[in-house]
Amino acid sequence: MDRPLRVAVFGAGPSGLFLADALLKAHPGPLSIDIIDRLPAPYGLVRYGVAPDHPKIKSVINTFQKTFEDERVRFLGNVSFGIDLTLEDVRKHYDVAVYAVGAAVDRALGIPGEDLPGNYSSTEFVAWYSGHPDQHGRTITLDAEAVAVIGVGNVAIDVARVLAKHVDELRPTDVPDYVIEALEKSRIRDIYLIGRRGPAQAKFTTPELRELGEIAYADVIVDPAQLELDEASAKVVAAKSALQRNLDVLRGFAAKKLEGRPRRIHLMFLASPVAIKGNGRVEEIVLERNRLDENENALGTGVQDTLPVGMVFRAVGYRGIPLPGLPFDKRAHVISNKGGRVTDERGETVPGQYVAGWIKRGPSGVIGTNKADSAETARAILEDLPNLPHASEPSEAAVDALLRAKGAIVCLWDDWLAIDRLEREMGLKAGREERVKVTDFASLLAARD
Ligand code: NAP
Repeated sequence: MDRPLRVAVFGAGPSGLFLADALLKAHPGPLSIDIIDRLPAPYGLVRYGVAPDHPKIKSVINTFQKTFEDERVRFLGNVSFGIDLTLEDVRKHYDVAVYAVGAAVDRALGIPGEDLPGNYSSTEFVAWYSGHPDQHGRTITLDAEAVAVIGVGNVAIDVARVLAKHVDELRPTDVPDYVIEALEKSRIRDIYLIGRRGPAQAKFTTPELRELGEIAYADVIVDPAQLELDEASAKVVAAKSALQRNLDVLRGFAAKKLEGRPRRIHLMFLASPVAIKGNGRVEEIVLERNRLDENENALGTGVQDTLPVGMVFRAVGYRGIPLPGLPFDKRAHVISNKGGRVTDERGETVPGQYVAGWIKRGPSGVIGTNKADSAETARAILEDLPNLPHASEPSEAAVDALLRAKGAIVCLWDDWLAIDRLEREMGLKAGREERVKVTDFASLLAARD
């Protein structure tokens, strides 16, 4: 090819950025990558998902920034796939398209009462405390004394930690002022973290679990009887050091004398929510006690308990959603693909179309997991290059003209840098560690250069 290979990467989060970086490093010829995001700000879940009190994890942004600084890369923020750029547009203007759009929605519990006010999904709650523009203007009042967090993965731990910490611990972070105000008024005392299976099957990782015990404002309560493992679980734990470490931490919690701290995190296992009840808002959650079958699945015992709680946060995993025109696997909730190559309903490869990250493999793994995942997709792209059809209008200018004609307000890299500067200035004035986030579309776009 005697012109740069034109690549569109949809999604400026970790998987899209690892993918772009892999291509920048490995593609032998000239290259031009547009990293396109629905939001005016880049970095996806690093900006809008990593908990505010985890700045070390967020510092991966420093590496990602280098990708944007490469002269072969452009950032086109505030541009939506399917609206501003359709699949047809993408095919016309790019030789290769990679969808790295993540898993946008939460899973539901599918139980009665889930629509009562006081129920929140982790998608909403995390986006709210992360200052995601989709949640701008949303009021969440932490006016319940007891709350339930359903699920025992790392997102559930993040939610429990944010609810359990004293507001002063979150005040220096990048959370929006409305979050600080809500935390100041929080009446929360008891946080029940509820897993449907046993401690050996919990999805959280040890450092995140351990961190619960380091919250100065909260005691962690675990019933030692819940840590007695059945034979199958004991075998699973014996074979996996990560699970042994989890059990050690849990046993440490169970053995520790309570300090009478203002908040309490209760870790509960082998209990499934079966109904949420209340008169006009959440007042209680009904839990069914479970036992495990030989495949470590939860089986209801028919024994139910009622827990009085005024709010329920479900953190039971995310789900990918279809993109207009692209084949979707409705069971796995991912874009149909083989090793990153998009496949049609007959299982045949769709030329030039690829996926990376959660929309490729489902919502699992930590940020670093996406590096190997994106590298696999990048290898597939490079392997396929000699046989890929060429775009008919492959110039940057053609894309710009199209977006102008559609009336899209595009947020370029320099525009993001202006937003970044504003957030840092606001952060400095407010005594924050790094920044205060700008949280609505209009202000993000107004802050541009
Ligand atoms: P996850 O790890 O898959 O955990 C989901 C939890 O919800 C599991 O305990 C699951 O139990 C439970 N669950 C699912 N359906 C349920 C139902 N109907 N009723 C009751 N419980 C149910 O998902 P996640 O917490 O959303 O995390 C997603 C990924 O992001 C993970 O890979 C996680 O490690 C990562 N992450 C990492 C960090 C970090 O590194 N600090 C922070 C946040 C997220 P079962 O096991 O029984 O299905």
